[in-house]
Amino acid sequence: MGLSRLQVIINGQIQGVGFRPHVYRIAQKLQLTGWVQNNSEGVLIEVQGLATSLFIETLLSSLPSLAKVDRIESTHKTLIHDETDFQIIASQSGLSRTMISPDVGPCNDCLKELFDPQSRYYRYPFLNCTQCGPRLTITYNVPYDRHQTAMNEFPLCHVCQRDYANPENRRYHAQPTACSACGPQLSSSIQDIVLALRKGQIVALKGIGGYQLLCDATNEKAILTLRQRKNREAKPFALMVANTQSADMLVEVSHQEKELLNSSSRPIVLLKKKSMVLPDSIAPQLNYLGIMLPSSPLHYLLFNELSGSPDGVAWLKQALPFVLVATSANRGGHPLIIEDEAAQKELTPIADLIVSYNRKIIARVDDSVIRVTNHKPVFIRRARGYSPQSIPLAKEIPSTLALGGHLKNTFCITRGKEAFVSQHIGSLTNKATIEFFHESLESWIRLLDVKIERIACDLHPNFYTSKLAHELNLPVVAVQHHHAHLAAVAAEHHISGPVLGLALDGYGYGQDGSAWGGELMLLEKNNVQRLGCLHPIPQPGGEKAVLEPWRMAVSILHVLGNTAQFTPLLTDSVTLSNLNTLLKSKMPLPMTSSCGRLFDAASALLGVNTYSKFEGQAAMQLESLASKTVALPHGWSINTSGLNILPVFNHLLHTQPEQGANLFHGTLITGLLEWILHWSAILSIRMILLSGGCFLNKILTEELVNQLTHHGIHAYLPQHLPPNDGGISLGQAWIAGNSHLKGISCA
Ligand code: ZN
Ligand code: ZN
Ligand code: FE
Repeated sequence: MGLSRLQVIINGQIQGVGFRPHVYRIAQKLQLTGWVQNNSEGVLIEVQGLATSLFIETLLSSLPSLAKVDRIESTHKTLIHDETDFQIIASQSGLSRTMISPDVGPCNDCLKELFDPQSRYYRYPFLNCTQCGPRLTITYNVPYDRHQTAMNEFPLCHVCQRDYANPENRRYHAQPTACSACGPQLSSSIQDIVLALRKGQIVALKGIGGYQLLCDATNEKAILTLRQRKNREAKPFALMVANTQSADMLVEVSHQEKELLNSSSRPIVLLKKKSMVLPDSIAPQLNYLGIMLPSSPLHYLLFNELSGSPDGVAWLKQALPFVLVATSANRGGHPLIIEDEAAQKELTPIADLIVSYNRKIIARVDDSVIRVTNHKPVFIRRARGYSPQSIPLAKEIPSTLALGGHLKNTFCITRGKEAFVSQHIGSLTNKATIEFFHESLESWIRLLDVKIERIACDLHPNFYTSKLAHELNLPVVAVQHHHAHLAAVAAEHHISGPVLGLALDGYGYGQDGSAWGGELMLLEKNNVQRLGCLHPIPQPGGEKAVLEPWRMAVSILHVLGNTAQFTPLLTDSVTLSNLNTLLKSKMPLPMTSSCGRLFDAASALLGVNTYSKFEGQAAMQLESLASKTVALPHGWSINTSGLNILPVFNHLLHTQPEQGANLFHGTLITGLLEWILHWSAILSIRMILLSGGCFLNKILTEELVNQLTHHGIHAYLPQHLPPNDGGISLGQAWIAGNSHLKGISCA
């Protein structure tokens, strides 16, 4: 083994995660000279010595916990003779080929310091290190350096500066590092916040990615006040507890779910309720609760104060009876509030106490929501802790910007072999959310430093995003909604087909202009063929039916020729009789093959939900009632145009809700299975992509996947993105990026 010099280039999530000090320590250990530098390509290293051959292996075998290496390249270089040590040299700016890391919950070392009276970080709410702290939410630009973040307003004190410059220190180049002498300050004391919570008051708290509203979750009056002031009647509230031991008292938590709760991303995890411990008003008529653990040192300080402010970390492992409602501070349907002025203006009528701090939030990032289905995490909302992590693609495609859907919007930008899907933006139904969309889009294009070559959008001609797509003076590819849902799964799993795809969804604009949402498709490369759909039924009232499930129930009874008396609760008789007349008339009505609308209809017929307070409520309540599904023999049929499960509806009208929920789920699952097996046999294809909002239903997903597996069919679900519309931007980008553009505008 002689003296040699190696140049190493590493790409991946390696900036702002303590990567360079890690390299430094390994170079010291192997007695190598040379240097390491962050540059726009990633990390650039040169090492020289007798043990360069061990360098890469040693580096990769002990990566910092937050680092993710995507690619590593090395080449031999000529020796440099006057080099005597190993150095970390300053970042180089230029064309950016990297991306910042998502925000990270407090690490154990920081928590120890937070409650250690000897530490200079003792009870300082903004401590962090290279292994934890805010990232995306405080960053203006790359390379990720302090002056490009919201920390640029806080010059380091000399002690922090010393740690920041010391490669042996955990805070070496920790860009957001700060202490009580030099860093951001909280506007209220922890004692005052806890006092307000104890009194049953509502507290608005500036969190990591935006303001949150907190109240005592054991205090029903506080919850109802929050509901009333926020004008949020029934949508479930998420809860925060100190640790998994505390979560155990409220919900059933598996080992896997505990790991997810404790993970550095600190998502909200949906978990099955234990018998009524908390007021039902937290998540009315649902059998699960959204639980998260503290995601910032500030949250930990609140639980510490609630516990009588003990020093040390022993209390962190104890089951504690304190449960907080922790919900996004925004007006219904509007983006999360991040500016202090807006918080004062908009939250004063809602919160009794508004708590701020003097560091800016640059990127608005909501909490992520996940549910474990079939032992795999399924996203409901992907934002804090995950965004802007990239999704590796099977091959390089031209830089494409996909504008996403209309509701639960995200956008996607591709760069080389990577796709970057934005944080959850929301429904583009109001000016504020549209502004948020544009703000984020601009900042992501800046952070990724890409020149967009193509635009992808939904096939719907009137969506805000579809209109915008055509104003950008670039080639546009419009992708059918369910094709996009399924293509996203294909892109994630690197599948090019031929493969079956089943999209079960609320609404998507079909190739024929009608409402689709229960589609069996054949995908091969960029092509798609609709093999069949759920039996289309009239959707009286169009969009109105989404919040009035009774309309779909009446429509289905009509299609079935069922004259049984169905008088939905709360419906006025005039509207009902008008609707019946309409259905009997020869007037052409909007038709839908939506699976979501079938859930609504079943929920209404069973008397579970005839009027919904929010989209999806009827289906969520129906799912919460189901436990042991049963299929109704002859409750469904398959023909050349698709699957018809309407016959089961004849049996729902006079059935008990629980029994009906089981019957509906069971019949739907069996019908879908037979439908898939039918086409699988004809086409000799044994792989299927599953996506669409209905796959958030745990019972449907678990049973269908298990049945398919049992029959030798491999089912693929989204893994890094939600099955709902939050995932379609990736599918749009993948289709557009792979299109042979000849002025085409349709895929
Ligand atoms: Zn830390
Ligand atoms: Zn300091
Ligand atoms: Fe959809």
